[in-house]
Amino acid sequence: MTTCQMNTPPEMDMKEETRHFNTQLAIIGSGIAGFAASIFAVNRKIATAQIGNTGALAYTTGYLDLLGKQDDEQAAIADPWRALEELRKNQPNHPLSRIPTADIHNGFDEFTAFFGEYGLAYSRPGANNITALTPVGTLKQTLCVPATMAAGPRAFAAQKPCIIVDFIGLKGFSGRQVVANLHDRWPDLGTERIAFPDMDHGEIYPEVMARALEVPATREKLAAALKGAAGQAKVIGLPAILGMHRPDHVRAELERLTSLEIFEIPTMPPSVPGIRLRELFEQVLPHKGVTLIPQQKVTALTFAAEGATLSLSDSYGPIRIHTQAVILATGRFLSGGLEAHPDEIREQLLGLPVTQPADRTLWYRDRYTDRRGHAIHRAGIAIDHAFRPLARDRRPYNERLFTAGIILAHQDWIRSRSGAGIAIATAYRAVAEVERFLIAQA
Ligand SMILES: Cc1cc2nc3c(=O)[nH]c(=O)nc-3n(C[C@H](O)[C@H](O)[C@H](O)COP(=O)(O)OP(=O)(O)OC[C@H]3O[C@@H](n4cnc5c(N)ncnc54)[C@H](O)[C@@H]3O)c2cc1C
Repeated sequence: MTTCQMNTPPEMDMKEETRHFNTQLAIIGSGIAGFAASIFAVNRKIATAQIGNTGALAYTTGYLDLLGKQDDEQAAIADPWRALEELRKNQPNHPLSRIPTADIHNGFDEFTAFFGEYGLAYSRPGANNITALTPVGTLKQTLCVPATMAAGPRAFAAQKPCIIVDFIGLKGFSGRQVVANLHDRWPDLGTERIAFPDMDHGEIYPEVMARALEVPATREKLAAALKGAAGQAKVIGLPAILGMHRPDHVRAELERLTSLEIFEIPTMPPSVPGIRLRELFEQVLPHKGVTLIPQQKVTALTFAAEGATLSLSDSYGPIRIHTQAVILATGRFLSGGLEAHPDEIREQLLGLPVTQPADRTLWYRDRYTDRRGHAIHRAGIAIDHAFRPLARDRRPYNERLFTAGIILAHQDWIRSRSGAGIAIATAYRAVAEVERFLIAQA
């Protein structure tokens, strides 16, 4: 299949020339769903353009959850693959229920395989969930973790003596809090507070610390401090600060310098692991042939018999992207894909019908912490078997339009701990459907 072409025909507007791009697939959104769709499309040699405004990606912990809890149960899920079978029985409209298990597995496998060669390796999907540490020292179930974090769950499972290190001036991550919350389940856990090299006064920030650790001299100074803090322990847990672009290398170097096993724990958002993902995607995907237009919002999307056209602008002026197919992956309220208005919830770009409660009084239950959750969190876009959004007449809105990610209806990703799982699996399916569509059109 061909790569993207750019033509710049003269425009009526003499001040700012409109730039035109032709492509096979345009992906709207730069969250996990949008980036996963780009990776899957590139691997299938589909010419791709991706446009995404700043979104929720920088908030993520870096963990890739598939299914950590069933909505109506408190117990953590150990085997997410078996839990998917339960989900299919209990929630047949859930996006994950509409995707064969093999496709979900393949999607995770292909997505996690992408990172290793860029120094940000991930564990591959296993038979069971991993019990991982949260920023406050509680435990959660997830399917894949960055390699920089993998030693934490291993040390917890083996109950190895471990020291959680935090830093003078770093807010939002407390070794004492982690130890207090985990003490009953990990008795050999202690904590030490140290100064970060050359940042020993005032408030310090994870992103700045991570970039500082790309410098060998900073690593050597930190290694000396970590050896002092470790005492008898052979394992050290740190907030997620081990470099921005080559965290696997930074961790390996610190382990070499200290002879200790070292792991990261996610911090509160915005978090370094999320920023790492965003920066990696933004650097690598253009080299893979994706026309990436970051930090911009698509303002209009129109369909004609021969294709679709996206309209947007950047600081050089207007842009038009002409494409054969579109994947809408614009997220929920936080990212602007859905909007809550006084009378109803609306889809922001096309005004697609949103599956939602009959009126606003039914959006929330009385108690915020109600274990049954809130109906608003299950609102979203309804799709057909090919992941095409439905119009009001329940037929596909347009044969060229597909959807992926948490904008989809009938799921509450926060309660089921399935944010990345829904994003990756639905992106995998949507790209497969796009490929089928493009072949049929050829
Ligand atoms: C605090 C926090 C912690 C999280 N922790 C985890 C975790 O531990 N594990 C896990 O699996 N998941 C986690 N997630 C969820 C995960 O980060 C993603 O939110 C989720 O996977 C959904 O991805 P998405 O791509 O569907 O949507 P989003 O991530 O919301 O992305 C939607 C994108 O669309 C863009 N957009 C919207 N409208 C337009 C437009 N008109 N034009 C162009 N772009 C547009 C947005 O700017 C955004 O980039 C967490 C999320 C948050 C907020």
